[in-house]
Amino acid sequence: MLNRARSRFRRLPRWGQALVVLLGLGGTVGLGTLAVFLYSQTQSNSGAVIRRWFTDPAGRRALITTLREPCPGAPFLLPTDGLIGLLWRDPAVPYHIFRRHTGLDIFGDGAPGTVPVVAAYAGYLTRLDGWLSSVIIRHDDPLRPGHTIWTYYTHMASRDGRTSYIADAFPPGTSEVWVEQGTLLGYQGDYSGGALSVGMHLHFSIVESEPGGSFKNESHLANTLDPSPYLGMPLNINSRPARPITCRS
Ligand SMILES: [Zn+2]
Repeated sequence: MLNRARSRFRRLPRWGQALVVLLGLGGTVGLGTLAVFLYSQTQSNSGAVIRRWFTDPAGRRALITTLREPCPGAPFLLPTDGLIGLLWRDPAVPYHIFRRHTGLDIFGDGAPGTVPVVAAYAGYLTRLDGWLSSVIIRHDDPLRPGHTIWTYYTHMASRDGRTSYIADAFPPGTSEVWVEQGTLLGYQGDYSGGALSVGMHLHFSIVESEPGGSFKNESHLANTLDPSPYLGMPLNINSRPARPITCRS
């Protein structure tokens, strides 16, 4: 087999031999580039930062982002204080190429049920009947006039699911209640709905609207928006600084 290929190769004219060699090299370089690209897509330092958060509680203070006002020129408030750990587009399962994180995981310093979560922007709040730990708010998109977007907040319940940490003002079944920016929505929790809990945090995401007026499925990256321009911070894995995340200067 190999010998036959070799003798065929020798019978080719010089230019033909050169072409075969070039194609072979090109293919190898192409595959190599693809492999490097896929590998780079799996790399992010978020996992290491989050591990540091849980293994070195004394060092937490240096990692916390606190924001009482929106960043200059940005419309949204950071909805809770803490380590902005997992970013938008981060590999959702550690080092998984194909599943991406749809929002931000913000890890607060304190016991479950004590770190406040507030509305990032004014809008109409809904909490569906079965929602133990989540609320969603409908907004006029401040960056794309005429569009509707939603902000989604979840994990606001105890790990065992017995206690919801959502504010009493928003019981299950709440529909389209107006809230101002900064309105208390509840408190960070460690409920994960049966999935492996990664510790207390708020999962916050910006979700696109269905043409019919409802919100799209939040668990698909394509249905969510990069929160960076809304918060005025580098909040996707392509631009993560190697230090606590603050307003863009
Ligand atoms: Zn999350």
